[in-house]
Amino acid sequence: ILTVGLIEPLIGVMSYSDDIAQMDTIVTEVRNIIDAPEMVRPEKLTKTIKGGDIVLDNVHFSYSDKEILHGISMTIHGGGFAAFVGPSGSGKSTVARLIASLWDVDSGSISLGGVDIKDIPFDEYNKRIAYVSQDNFLFDLTVRENIRLGDRTATDKEVEEAAKKCGCHDFIMGLENGYDTVVGTSGGHLSGGERQRISIARAMLKNADIVILDEATAYTDPENEAVIQRSVAKLVEGKTLIVIAHRLSTVKNADRLYVINDGNIAEQGTHDELLSKGGLYSSMWAAHISAKDGEEDV
Ligand code: ADP
Ligand code: MG
Repeated sequence: ILTVGLIEPLIGVMSYSDDIAQMDTIVTEVRNIIDAPEMVRPEKLTKTIKGGDIVLDNVHFSYSDKEILHGISMTIHGGGFAAFVGPSGSGKSTVARLIASLWDVDSGSISLGGVDIKDIPFDEYNKRIAYVSQDNFLFDLTVRENIRLGDRTATDKEVEEAAKKCGCHDFIMGLENGYDTVVGTSGGHLSGGERQRISIARAMLKNADIVILDEATAYTDPENEAVIQRSVAKLVEGKTLIVIAHRLSTVKNADRLYVINDGNIAEQGTHDELLSKGGLYSSMWAAHISAKDGEEDV
């Protein structure tokens, strides 16, 4: 079984000639690449999705034989802002991948608007989700084509508008061939922060109801973080937002923070509620503040 760690090298093997025209959405393509033949979805949607609540009910999950998630339950309200925080390796990205329907749960369920996502055709589900993975999947195509994967019907002008909103336009214009610059294998000709911003521009163009943003750890210089924060704010107006955060200040204003520890939800609540609990979150926050060394936002 191929794992996420293998995706980037595999994408690097793809070239422009590889059936790019047939790629439906980025999530479909990523799932094809990670090879998940055990996932079955109906051809047609026979149930009615009512509203936008995402409900996880006692979700258990293992990549191989070792269980990673041990019974995760949560309700993310449509139009709301949920955040996953917690130590590295605790399972945050895994929960995000399950919500994005990249893997199936072992037991328990995930539903959208009251319908189990296993009863929703892939295309129906994928068009509702924009998933910005921590791996920032870029293909060895031009910048323009990479952004356009969010909406195959978008005009050049619409692609550029999405890039402008995400603070990408200026650095793209500075590239050798502007929007026609080929990004290289896995986007290797760009910096990590630039790759993430292009991924966000793609999500912006997709204009999906649900946005999942798995922050990349590596590119947290303050300047890039500020640009990313501004573009995310534009991206998510009126949408359901799920952020996996490495910098707690990014998600302080979430409606609900889920502190994930060792595959369980250790704590949940608003920032203020969690601080007053004096548990794991409050010690993470204290560490975050001292790491920022007094640079806290005003
Ligand atoms: P987090 O995002 O909180 O850092 P992850 O969800 O990425 O944590 O990982 C949770 C656990 O699952 C870790 O022990 C990690 O090593 C393991 N894991 C993550 N991805 C895979 C994979 N594709 N195959 C096997 N194990 C994985
Ligand atoms: Mg992660």
